[in-house]
Amino acid sequence: MSGYELVLPALPPELSAREQGIVRSVEPAVQQLAVALYHRMKARGYRLVFNSGKRSYADQERIYNDTLRARAQGGAALNAAGLAGITARPGTSRHETGLAFDATPTPTTDAAWAVYGQEGEALGLTWGGRWTTRLPDGTTRTDRPHMQLSGGPTVAQLAAGGVLTALLIAAVLAARPSSTTGDK
Ligand SMILES: [Zn+2]
Repeated sequence: MSGYELVLPALPPELSAREQGIVRSVEPAVQQLAVALYHRMKARGYRLVFNSGKRSYADQERIYNDTLRARAQGGAALNAAGLAGITARPGTSRHETGLAFDATPTPTTDAAWAVYGQEGEALGLTWGGRWTTRLPDGTTRTDRPHMQLSGGPTVAQLAAGGVLTALLIAAVLAARPSSTTGDK
């Protein structure tokens, strides 16, 4: 589709070079949402730190295998590895389509995570903190850093091409910050 152009958002100057790279790695519409979420968190008293953005198949495969290994060793290994215990199989992650990012609010408290989820959802993002997975050791985990734009194309659809721009424009228009009244 031609005739549409999404302008890349200005990045907050506080972001490290690594964080800037992470934010710039995702689709422009998701960049807009990530920056909007950053400012919302700042207004609530938190510094949002970006940890992960777009991933290649090889990136996702490595993280997936790390997660499986840590899972097999139990919850402590997951904590040590900084993994949530929930990692999509390579070829199925929204990170591979550039429609997802991971971030952590600091100071990092349960209250901060709740605010992060609330603000992300207010922007129309899907929050991994809602997903509960039971691990082999009987414990349950959520993926609180994870935010994604749902309803966009899958990896397979992206490979087929052509559907991304129109879907993202629709998603961004639907997620405009003016709709803060919890109507979705
Ligand atoms: Zn994620």
